[in-house]
Amino acid sequence: MGRTHYICCLSISMKKSSMKKHNFGAGPSILPQEVFEQSAQACLEYNGIGLSLLEISHRSKEFEAILDETLTLTRELLQIPDNYKVLLMQGGANMQFAMVPYNLLNENETASYLDTGVWAAKAEEEARLYGKTHIVASSKPDAYRYIPKTFEVPKDSVYLHVTSNNTIYGTEFFEDKSYDVPVVADMSSDIFSRPVDVSRYGLIYAGAQKNLGSAGITMVIIREDLIGRSARAKSKMWDYGIYAKNNSLYNTPPVFAIYTCLLTLRWLKKLGGLTAMEKRNKAKAELLYAEIDRNPLFKGHAVAEDRSRMNINFVPVHPEDEAAFLEFVKPYHIHGIKGYRTVGGFRASCYNALPIESVQVLVQAMQDFEKTK
Ligand SMILES: *Cc1c(COP(=O)(O)O)cnc(C)c1O
Repeated sequence: MGRTHYICCLSISMKKSSMKKHNFGAGPSILPQEVFEQSAQACLEYNGIGLSLLEISHRSKEFEAILDETLTLTRELLQIPDNYKVLLMQGGANMQFAMVPYNLLNENETASYLDTGVWAAKAEEEARLYGKTHIVASSKPDAYRYIPKTFEVPKDSVYLHVTSNNTIYGTEFFEDKSYDVPVVADMSSDIFSRPVDVSRYGLIYAGAQKNLGSAGITMVIIREDLIGRSARAKSKMWDYGIYAKNNSLYNTPPVFAIYTCLLTLRWLKKLGGLTAMEKRNKAKAELLYAEIDRNPLFKGHAVAEDRSRMNINFVPVHPEDEAAFLEFVKPYHIHGIKGYRTVGGFRASCYNALPIESVQVLVQAMQDFEKTK
């Protein structure tokens, strides 16, 4: 009885809501519209069972089916080899900064880090609590405008940690390179944006709130032989082995966040998987970079060869245009293009779910702004 009434009210209030904005926010960020609608529906009543998804047991057959399909679709879309486990946990990428060395690195051993931005530097800082670290290269002196490509990884490093997409400065690497040691990658802001050769990595982790689902869930893809590599006694909630043994159901997982991931993964598959997604993302990025390069009022931050498709950073040629342009785009329903607090300028995040129409609107606004001069 009551449930149908609520659902009815929800759809009415959705219709009444103001026009949806073009959301270029860096995270939590845009998800496919159908993910918003289906997850809202599931909060009211899940799958006709007379209960909300928020009030059922994480050991119910409904949630078990959600978890199974989430893991299966993840493996299918990323073509994950059989000797890798997919784990779902909480704490975000920041918790992985600590969990990776805690699980992989012994106190007297060394882990290597490639410093390509704020997140990479934070990861290295956490690792120092658990072992020794070595920075193989850093682009910090050049405001993280590029990704260092020539560096030596000491052979006795337990792993090399990289950040595949530098969310704050807008650099990204598109090649899955192998090194003599296992590669650990923070893919928080570009996972599922292109096909990835998982076999080139020892461990991949990603907070969900950029390309995958709502905040509150973190995905870890780990090669089985690395689970529990470090000898230290481990707290259960910090032990990859516990998650692997219990299929990520050792304790109550974030049920709703996992469901939003599942809905996004279904959407990805329906659209043609990661090859199709990469094509879409390339088209969006090329459109916006072309305007940044053409328009005399703006310039890009990153060097051309390392430009991110996910986070497109640009600055005004005349500093006084920064506030003016942010004001100017308001009537275009553009949201979230203000640059990171320590960087300034503009950042247009173009995650998977952002439609190309939103990029077209931003390009139009940039052209209209030019005409006001
Ligand atoms: C957003 C982001 C983080 C931080 O993620 P949390 O989930 O907030 O801990 C770390 N690394 C990268 C690359 C990010 O984009």
